[in-house]
Amino acid sequence: METVKLICIGCPMGCDLSVDLENGVPVSVTGNTCPIGKKYAEEEVTAPKRTVTSTALSKDGVPVPVKTAGTVPKGAIFAVVSDVKKAKPSLPVRIGDVIVPDAAGTGVPVVATKDVSR
Ligand code: SF4
Repeated sequence: METVKLICIGCPMGCDLSVDLENGVPVSVTGNTCPIGKKYAEEEVTAPKRTVTSTALSKDGVPVPVKTAGTVPKGAIFAVVSDVKKAKPSLPVRIGDVIVPDAAGTGVPVVATKDVSR
C-alpha cells in the first residue's frame, strides 16, 4: 500500500488530502471536506490535468491573454503552449473567442480571456 499526500486545489481552503493506492489504483481518499477533493485526488494520482493559461500574439504583435476552456492532461501542457504561440489571432478579439480550436489534439479549445483591440 502506498500513500500520497496532496493539497486540494479545488478551492482556497486547500484541504490536506491523503490517497491510499494499491498497485497504482486509489482505494481511499481522506482529508477532503467535499466530493471535489476526492475527485481531484483520484484524478491527480492517475491522470493529472490542468487548466493552461498563456498569451498569444496577434498578427499585429499585440498580446492576447488566453486559457484552455477546460483541463488538459498535464503531459500536454507544453504542446498546448506551443499551439498558442503558433496562433496569430486577428484583432479585435473578444473574451471567449476561440484562439486554438483543438489545443494539441486534446479536444479542448483555447479561448481569449480579455477583450483586446489595437
Ligand atoms: S476538498 Fe473541497 S473544501 Fe477542501 S479544498 Fe478541496 S474543494 Fe475545497
